[in-house]
Amino acid sequence: MKVNSVELVISAVKEQQYPNDPFPEIALAGRSNVGKSSFINRMIQRKSMARTSAKPGKTQTLNFYFINENFYFVDVPGYGYAKVSKKEREKWGTMMETYFSSREELKLTVLIVDLRHKPTEDDFLMYDFLKYYDIPVLIIATKMDKVPKSKRQKQLKVISETLDIEPEDRIVPFSAESGEGKEEAWKAIRSYMNV
Ligand code: GDP
Repeated sequence: MKVNSVELVISAVKEQQYPNDPFPEIALAGRSNVGKSSFINRMIQRKSMARTSAKPGKTQTLNFYFINENFYFVDVPGYGYAKVSKKEREKWGTMMETYFSSREELKLTVLIVDLRHKPTEDDFLMYDFLKYYDIPVLIIATKMDKVPKSKRQKQLKVISETLDIEPEDRIVPFSAESGEGKEEAWKAIRSYMNV
């Protein structure tokens, strides 16, 4: 897919700041440092539009990127960073709950995991949380350039079994480094919205 325009419309901390228009939204979630910003930047063909992981102490926001004046990517703060205070974690939880429990424009969440590793407990909890709210999930297994071809199928199986993914959800292997998987990821994302 060709991305002609990208605009960071708002970094929202509360519901009143979410965009007030009918465009479909695709949320992007993943553990800190998994490669979420690199995924976004590769997909939208920008070098550093999405910033690398928010450092602890920095305000955690939902970043709404308006793409091709047609739909939004909603970048969700990464989870699983050990040094986050309890208060910060609670704030994050409230923000997640608010957005994911009732956002009508949300069509899909892209959950980014690392193809090299078994998903963490936090990955499992995130998938479970999304399924609790009946949100379709596309799993992107990134950093595939770091996994030899002969081992990729086995790793995909480990991810699928560890997350206990539902039959309607798919996994797409991806590399932000090489761009492999990009068109397949777009195809999957587009199938959830009418753009
Ligand atoms: P975020 O915290 O989830 O946004 O993670 P980043 O996008 O900042 O990536 C974390 C680190 O992983 C960086 O050093 C990236 O260069 C690296 N990285 C991300 N995606 C890939 C990938 O597909 N292949 C390789 N080899 N490295 C990657």
